[in-house]
Amino acid sequence: MRRFNPAFIGLRGLILIFVLLAVLATLCNSLIVAYGVQRDALVHFALESNRAYAFKVASTIDEFLTSVHARLGYSSQQIGRNFDNPQLLKAEATRLQAQDTELNAVLIVDAAGAIRQTHPDMPEFVGSFITSDELAKALAGRRPDVSPAYRAASGRLIVFVSQPIFGPGGEYLGLVGASLYLEEHGALHSLIGEHQLSGAFAFVADGNRRLLYHPEHERIGEALSSSETVDAALRGESGEMQALNYQGIPMLAGYAHVASANWAVVAQQPRDEALAPLGQLMRDMIVKIIPAGLAGLALILLGAMLITRPLRQLSAQVGHLAEPEAAARLQSVKAWYAEAASIRQALVSGVQLLQQHLGRLSHAADTDALTGLANRRAMDAALKVLDASDKGYAALALDIDHFKRVNDTFGHDAGDVTLRRIAQIIQECSRTGDLACRAGGEEFCLLLPDTGMDAAREIAERIRSTIAGTPIDPVGKLTISIGVARRGPDTPASDSILKRADERLYQAKAAGRNRVVADDAAA
Ligand code: GH3
Ligand code: MG
Ligand code: MG
Repeated sequence: MRRFNPAFIGLRGLILIFVLLAVLATLCNSLIVAYGVQRDALVHFALESNRAYAFKVASTIDEFLTSVHARLGYSSQQIGRNFDNPQLLKAEATRLQAQDTELNAVLIVDAAGAIRQTHPDMPEFVGSFITSDELAKALAGRRPDVSPAYRAASGRLIVFVSQPIFGPGGEYLGLVGASLYLEEHGALHSLIGEHQLSGAFAFVADGNRRLLYHPEHERIGEALSSSETVDAALRGESGEMQALNYQGIPMLAGYAHVASANWAVVAQQPRDEALAPLGQLMRDMIVKIIPAGLAGLALILLGAMLITRPLRQLSAQVGHLAEPEAAARLQSVKAWYAEAASIRQALVSGVQLLQQHLGRLSHAADTDALTGLANRRAMDAALKVLDASDKGYAALALDIDHFKRVNDTFGHDAGDVTLRRIAQIIQECSRTGDLACRAGGEEFCLLLPDTGMDAAREIAERIRSTIAGTPIDPVGKLTISIGVARRGPDTPASDSILKRADERLYQAKAAGRNRVVADDAAA
């Protein structure tokens, strides 16, 4: 199994991975924070709206009940002065209902509980006694009163608002009151109206937690088993809270107390409805972030490319540092920031050192250590180049005469000195562009590019005579034999010029040494 090698990931990939991770983390964090802030703002707004709405509804109901009490109070004074005048009682009952159509029915009862007058006028009931507990309590209370909701003898669910009647001497005469029918479209319906928020609504409950008003009309009259909001309002508080409704649905609610009747007003909205805009808000936000995000990513990509480009170009050269153009190629890399520039500088210096070292090594490999002339290897390479070119060249094969005697007589070291001296003479007698080589032992070779046979012979003769005329310490004068051959335009490619020069050298030896023999064929 191949193991994962981290070096396979480039710097650009690493930068991109880390930057992308950082960008994604920041983005997620922003979205989470934005989601929380938006959600809290929506919840706060819904709670605040519901609190304000409940408060407004409660004060409207309060004002309404106060004005009903005021009108009933005025009538009770009129009635108190003329309690035994049926005409006046009838007129007052009619006036009360006519003045305020929200009062569905009017009732005047004496202190004993006998009905004195009704509106609408129902003479058959006059003189009969009231039967409901709520009316009895109101009568016994002898003060302005708003009853809890109850079902009247007529079968209607009502609230009874009443004022006591006192005679001119202050004696208690009975009460005058008006019924509000809860199940028909009446006072509370028109007071509460429509809530502005989506899915939001208000309801009113009395002190027994019985619903006086609810937008689902069939629930009017239902007694709530428990309700945190209603209980808080009935304690006289007004405010806002998040609470579960009777179905366990989370609600954002505002509540207020109707002091004049001990009623609770609750305005509420399902939390899910209040948070419905959140999805759209977040979608809008993401859509608006995308173009800037893409532009940011493009910038990051560009930045990563610009930063990594010099390093990538430098690393691409690492496999080719031994090539002669390596330094120039490294220099051409645009290292536009400090670190890349120092790496480039370090590589260039390294390449220069490497190439100097290689240069020395190749010099050593091509040079004969004893004489400093080119060695056999360099000579073969030079011959290959000369053979491949279409220019003519000449080759001299040189062999010192009776060299064995030098060694035998003066020792091997003196032989070496002699070899060095003769190599020096050969070098001195050759021209720039000629290549002097030590072919092995006391044999030499001189390659003369672009040289005719006459010139070659002349150079050979010069070498021969110089050596013959130069005494070498401690050996004295020596002689050399030289064979000359030349490659011309007609020479077959397979022919070895050096071999022919050797053959001429052999002839020179045979002819008595200390002479030059040239290859006539190519003259
Ligand atoms: P000739 O060429 O005239 O026929 O006679 P020669 O004595 O030169 O014959 P040969 O070529 O057989 O001998 C070459 C001698 O050169 C043999 C060897 O001792 C000597 N020699 C070869 N290489 C070296 C060297 O590197 N140093 C020394 N001192 N002697 C060497
Ligand atoms: Mg020899
Ligand atoms: Mg020899």
